[in-house]
Amino acid sequence: MAAATSGAGRCRLSKVGSGRRPPPARVRVAVRLRPFVDGTSGTSEPPCVRGIDSCSLEVANWRNYQETLKYQFDAFYGERSSQQDIYAGSVQPILRHLLEGQNASVLAYGPTGAGKTHTMLGSPEQPGVIPRALMDLLQMTREEGAEGRPWALSVTMSYLEIYQEKVLDLLDPASGDLVIREDCRGNILIPGLTQKPITSFADFERHFLPASGNRTVGATRLNQRSSRSHAVLLVKVDQRERLAPFRQREGKLYLIDLAGSEDNRRTGNQGLRLKESGAINTSLFVLGKVVDALNQGLPRVPYRDSKLTRLLQDSLGGSAHSILIANIAPERRFYLDTVSALNFAARSKEVINRPFTNESLQLHVLAPVKLSQKELLGPSEVKKAQGSEEEEIGSPEPTAAPVSASQKLSPLQKLSSMDPAMLERLLSLDRLLGSQGTQGTPLLNTPRRERMVLIKTVEEKELEIERLKMKQKELEAKVLAQEASDPKEKENFSLTMLRPLPRRTVTAAKPLKKAVVMPLQLIQEQAASPSTEIHILKKKGRKRKVRLTGGLRCTSNLTELESLDASEPEEKAEDCWELQISPELLAHGRQKILDLLNEGSARDLRTLQRIGQKKAQLIVGWRELHGPFTQVEDLERVEGISGKQMESFLKANILGLAAGQRCGPS
Ligand code: ADP
Ligand code: MG
Repeated sequence: MAAATSGAGRCRLSKVGSGRRPPPARVRVAVRLRPFVDGTSGTSEPPCVRGIDSCSLEVANWRNYQETLKYQFDAFYGERSSQQDIYAGSVQPILRHLLEGQNASVLAYGPTGAGKTHTMLGSPEQPGVIPRALMDLLQMTREEGAEGRPWALSVTMSYLEIYQEKVLDLLDPASGDLVIREDCRGNILIPGLTQKPITSFADFERHFLPASGNRTVGATRLNQRSSRSHAVLLVKVDQRERLAPFRQREGKLYLIDLAGSEDNRRTGNQGLRLKESGAINTSLFVLGKVVDALNQGLPRVPYRDSKLTRLLQDSLGGSAHSILIANIAPERRFYLDTVSALNFAARSKEVINRPFTNESLQLHVLAPVKLSQKELLGPSEVKKAQGSEEEEIGSPEPTAAPVSASQKLSPLQKLSSMDPAMLERLLSLDRLLGSQGTQGTPLLNTPRRERMVLIKTVEEKELEIERLKMKQKELEAKVLAQEASDPKEKENFSLTMLRPLPRRTVTAAKPLKKAVVMPLQLIQEQAASPSTEIHILKKKGRKRKVRLTGGLRCTSNLTELESLDASEPEEKAEDCWELQISPELLAHGRQKILDLLNEGSARDLRTLQRIGQKKAQLIVGWRELHGPFTQVEDLERVEGISGKQMESFLKANILGLAAGQRCGPS
């Protein structure tokens, strides 16, 4: 399985605490002094290094025997310290950060033969940092990712070496030199690098041992190639939240056995050796420059100047919890390399990293893309998931029963895992949306996040309904209490309660829709004036023309109106009317409107029907510009009053003026 070292296609949700700057975490530096080896156990020569306490050591100054150079670090492990001491004291504490979605790295630095590989890898009898860290990490992920815990965890491993500035995949030696890239979010990627899922230490060994063999074969053939290359083991811990909001975290652990830091000018290397040492020196020299640039706060840190530093961009001055283990040897012949290794270590401990949690939303939550269970689950869960999938197909859950076959169900959420009441509500909402012809994705086929929003809305609405019901009950209780206290009112009240509420006919949009027609007798009682004769024509229904003679009565007396209504049941049944106004009234009305148009202020003009403030101002403006209106139809020339509207405008206003006349001054 080939994959990049960091998940592409994810959207970073947050750097935890991204509002603030992540808290600093200084690169921690430990020094490990190995014992004398190869029978040189201190008999022929005294050690050139001496430990002072658990954090400091001193090196004899060969130029002046009376002097010593003292160094202080986060930890110092003397020649008698065990593999467990180093692991428990300096490495184990940073592993927990991986489960928080943060990066961590362990680098073994020092000259060839000083014990880097021993520290990192060790032997079957004395396992080093790598097997111990893997063992613990796998145990931790098993516990944290257990069924019922909020996150599902999976672990993958990649193993590469950087040899002569080439990135070689040790899990797939045929793949050739790989490129190191950085994505838009600053993650370092190696596209094409093999990534093996591991669930147990046996899994890890199965991949790691032959890969180390690849390196060892090279070492035999190339004479110590292994000490000329940087070996990088990358372990990724991927976490996926099982419940909303379905976050995803990724923590990367780099375990690096660096190439020897010895000064090759003194080794007399030639040919290939010289070329190799040049490459090693380049990357370690750049590593030194990176450390210096970070310490001095330079704007440009030369990560790109070597493959090693590019890969370590995350680990030095980046987002990782980093520990540098400087390995030194006690023999005199190592003296200069020891001093240079200690000087590098001393500079490195000043480097400040700012670790943050690398968190994103899971891909299947962001887009309604159907991912396979394999993609969604860690390898250990795939088997389990397959089992449950089969189970689901074999025996559909009883809660899924009300769902008809035609209904599309989300491929993203098992209905069986839903609350049956919620499912029922969702289905009815889905049906309702369907019946209203709502376009778009059916509710149950929407992505989970949107569905959650819909569910929330439904719940809120239900709460509102509940609140209203409560209020109604409260009001009813109040009424009952009132009835009990005042029996007289009770009678009236119960009458009111029993009587149906009068229905209101809203006619605002159609002013001609309803007309109240007075009985002929009443009309005759009015002081008839030929100028106020209005004809009402029936517009809808049979094209029967009803001609009524009389004026328009203006009244605010509801009872009278009701009685008038009752006296003309036939007319009341009709719902659309048109007015025909007598020529005299029309001429009279026209003149009044014309006078108003020529003499009225904007405010006066607004008393006319269908003239709002804007139109009134337009009329006044037009009048000032063009002089008085000669006829009402001139209004058509004023912007905003179309010819079509003129007729109804006239009728409405003449009617209004006539009514105003009858009712007294308006
Ligand atoms: P490097 O990887 O730095 O070149 P090695 O890890 O190969 O060095 O160590 C060189 C030799 O020293 C090996 O034989 C190794 O077993 C031995 N050695 C290194 N460190 C220790 C130690 N702490 N205790 C015992 N032997 C050690
Ligand atoms: Mg080595």
